[in-house]
Amino acid sequence: MIFLDHNAGSPPDPRVAARVRELLDGPGFANPSSAHGWGRNGREIVEDSRERVARSLGVVPQRITFTSGATESNAAAIGHWARHSPGRKVVVASPIEHPSVLEPLKALARRGYEIRWAPVASHGVVETGWIEGVLDDSVAFAACMSANNETGALQPWREWTRICAERGIPLHVDATQSWGREPLDAGEVVGSVALSGHKIGALSGAGAICLSNSKGFHGLAGPGPQERGRRSGTESVLAVASLGVVAPVGSMAAVWEKWTSLREILWEAVADPRSSTRTVPAGSSLPNTLHLRIPIRAETAVLRLDLAGVAASAGSACASGSMRPSTTLLAMGWTESEASRGLRLSVGHAVDESQVRQAANILRGVLVG
Ligand code: PMP
Repeated sequence: MIFLDHNAGSPPDPRVAARVRELLDGPGFANPSSAHGWGRNGREIVEDSRERVARSLGVVPQRITFTSGATESNAAAIGHWARHSPGRKVVVASPIEHPSVLEPLKALARRGYEIRWAPVASHGVVETGWIEGVLDDSVAFAACMSANNETGALQPWREWTRICAERGIPLHVDATQSWGREPLDAGEVVGSVALSGHKIGALSGAGAICLSNSKGFHGLAGPGPQERGRRSGTESVLAVASLGVVAPVGSMAAVWEKWTSLREILWEAVADPRSSTRTVPAGSSLPNTLHLRIPIRAETAVLRLDLAGVAASAGSACASGSMRPSTTLLAMGWTESEASRGLRLSVGHAVDESQVRQAANILRGVLVG
């Protein structure tokens, strides 16, 4: 199988697999809160990972709280920021957020909150300047993802960071698709940043939240003794260790260049006006993601690709299979029929150039005939 679905979740990085095997024979099972040697060993592994994750975001380790993934981080952040400013009943958000952000926001709307949705351009990027005019004294917090999981479109979270910080309004950034793929300076964000590990080779069920100020934050299950009171439940040494292994170190330039060149091999194979159009221009996209509007139903293309040994996705993994049109594509102005022809290909650590070239030929056969 040639795996072109890294945005849904990637196979474990070989370094992660090796580390997990090693820990299973050692302190992988340990409860890091235990006072005995096994527990202390588990604690060291957790704190070492915390440092690595913090370094990858340019922040101090105290800002990092481990969670079960970005879904938990997003829900916990939204609950926290709503509690943080009880008198404020407006949230400003992008309408192309992942369901794990959209659903908690809809829950707030059912409790009487007004959600001010940002306009989205047809190439999938949320408008930047719009936010300047809507941030008034009634706004509790804002939410803008770093990059869209479905289209790969990079979002203006850095501009939102600056504008929100100037007005003292917390911003939540779901950075799930950017971690390990583009530079992420979370130190600038006054608010919170959500991370997940399994898009870049860590274990699924491993994630984190980075908080600029964690006062009053207690996660979904309420205050508890773990994670300095910020998230109750025994930390999984295995899951947390896997985050430390994949946490990006240093410049992202080489990664960016590598994924971009693989993505462009795929695009060149289908860049024919009769076959497909590209949803997001290269300059506005995550390096690893190619989103296409194709001439046939994307579900059909995914099945044909699967039969030929290529894993791809019709829409986001959460929406695909449900046959519901993607809310992201609809928010970008696509009709339902157009949305049914949106195909996502996402490269990553589990493919090399020769596999991508092979997949490009198969893709051309499926789309161009
Ligand atoms: N946000 C985005 C943008 C995502 O792509 C995903 C994963 N599909 C999530 C949140 C949820 O992450 P997790 O699987 O770690 O809960």
